[in-house]
Amino acid sequence: MAAPSMGGVSLPRGNGQTVRLPRGASLTDLAERINAEPAALVTALFHLGEMITATQSVNDETLQLLGAEIGWVIQVVSPEDEDRELLDTFDLTFGDEESDDEDDWDIRPPVVTVMGHVDHGKTKLLDALRHANVAGKEAGGITQHIGAYQIITELEGNERPVTFIDTPGHESFTAMRARGAKVTDIVVLVVAADDGVMPQTVEALNHAQAANVPIVVAVNKIDKEGANPAKIRQQLTEYGLVAEEYGGDTMFVDVSATTRQGLDDLLSAILLTADASLDLRANIGQDPQGVVIEGKLDKGRGPVATVMVQRGTLRQGDSIVAGDAYGRVRSLLDEHGNKLKEALPARPVQVVGLTSVPRAGDTFLVVEEDRIARQIADRRQARIRNAQNASMRKRISLEDLDAALKETRQLNLIIKGDNSGTVEALEEALMKIEVSDDIALRVIHRGVGGITKSDIDLALADDVIVLGFNVRAEGQATELAAREGVDVRYYTVIYQAIEEIESALKGMLKPEYEEVQLGTAEVREVFRVPKIGNVAGSLVRSGTIVRNSKARLVRDGAVVADNLTVESLRRFKDDATEVREGYECGIGLGSFNDIKADDVIQTFELREKPRA
Ligand code: GDP
Repeated sequence: MAAPSMGGVSLPRGNGQTVRLPRGASLTDLAERINAEPAALVTALFHLGEMITATQSVNDETLQLLGAEIGWVIQVVSPEDEDRELLDTFDLTFGDEESDDEDDWDIRPPVVTVMGHVDHGKTKLLDALRHANVAGKEAGGITQHIGAYQIITELEGNERPVTFIDTPGHESFTAMRARGAKVTDIVVLVVAADDGVMPQTVEALNHAQAANVPIVVAVNKIDKEGANPAKIRQQLTEYGLVAEEYGGDTMFVDVSATTRQGLDDLLSAILLTADASLDLRANIGQDPQGVVIEGKLDKGRGPVATVMVQRGTLRQGDSIVAGDAYGRVRSLLDEHGNKLKEALPARPVQVVGLTSVPRAGDTFLVVEEDRIARQIADRRQARIRNAQNASMRKRISLEDLDAALKETRQLNLIIKGDNSGTVEALEEALMKIEVSDDIALRVIHRGVGGITKSDIDLALADDVIVLGFNVRAEGQATELAAREGVDVRYYTVIYQAIEEIESALKGMLKPEYEEVQLGTAEVREVFRVPKIGNVAGSLVRSGTIVRNSKARLVRDGAVVADNLTVESLRRFKDDATEVREGYECGIGLGSFNDIKADDVIQTFELREKPRA
């Protein structure tokens, strides 16, 4: 069969062969794989109703649609698969615990996430548990918030550590799970005894059950009047959580985060549940791996990430890659600020020494050399960029072709912030702003840290606004930005940033005008005036006739001429700026002379429509 010709560029047809492409690939990428001209693919896609340039990232469905059209099966490789393949090329795997040597295996502490309805006492409980540390006195120093902490408790005469994720709520739990990071072994579901099962209680429960994570119920606030712990037990049976004392297998513990009563029982329940339903052991001999719990930029120490070791033993000096950040572990710190030589599984530690800030839920692994860490991080960075570009790109359908052909204006942003969470939150919020179809918002660069000279250099290339969230421009960057007139804006609250960007976008809109009727005049007689031309001797029928206003001429109900201007206006012999209803006047319409008696002159002005 002859190759189909599309728009004059021939396109080689596939026979159902498979071609693998990373998510966010462009038509040029595809063209390279199937040995076609990128232009032919652009055309083919155009015929399918999508306008995408050769180098833009294309989303999954569009790629597959195009593939089907030209006879190829396009397999879009997910970031997870891609990452697996990436690691594979370095002979690395994440998540494998490979060792037959029993000596390498050791019991590890359970990792607990506290969830529940707002105001039921999650934060207070996490605070109270922190103080339940039997080794608390030895630890010394004030406990800092690093995103997770470990305490030692006593169970049947043995000292047992338990690790708590220090950010209550479902967001962190689901965010991590969404990235494939399974961190939590046990969920403590907090329910206030004076309140009862609430929507977020149920949501938390669903999350935990979906993740197949055992639940311990903490019935909190039992110190309060009106507390009814039995009611909570009864309510939760409806959701499949039956208390042990009622013959079920879920442990319910009555606690008060305020009076700290019942905390020991809660800790015991956590450990007993772990011992009964989980085999919490980890290989401590292998290359260390784990998950990033939190990342931030510290003024003095640079990027700092709290990581939870899941396998192996993390040591000072290790070459580490965490998401798209990498570096050498300069120091390991626990939640008391103590330096550690090593961190075993389920031990949360702050890692200092990364070159950038990884995101919560990123996985980390230790590799042989810095070089490998860097290569992996670089490849991940490129991939994240591509995928982001793909998800942000507006799809343009044929119906919108007109609009698409009109130049689409774009406001480019660079977002810098003090930690990865806020940068992501800000970007997400900004991308939701919708002002108009022909104006696009694009984040061309984002990152954690101060605004650097290279950010400003990047901003110079295009029309870019640089946003600093809780960060400032550093040294040379300030000068350069001032000299080149780069728009740098600082924020400390997200909504303020959103408001300003929204109005910046509105400012880019072409003004819209609406016609406002000013007046009408009936032509009674036409005079020929030398040098001026025909003048309409008229009677103003409604409103006001204003000199220099726009006008149209209507004859027998039909518009004879549009786009005219009242160039001269006279009352008797005098020039007038306006003539009101009921008065006679002479109207000159410039070079337009085709005026007859009984014509109607309508005048109007164009006013800019205010934006909603
Ligand atoms: P969260 O939204 O679940 O994190 O709830 P918080 O920990 O912020 O607690 C909400 C409110 O309940 C705060 O005013 C706490 O002081 C109060 N609270 C928490 N636990 C208890 C408790 O055991 N007893 C009493 N009386 N109040 C509590």
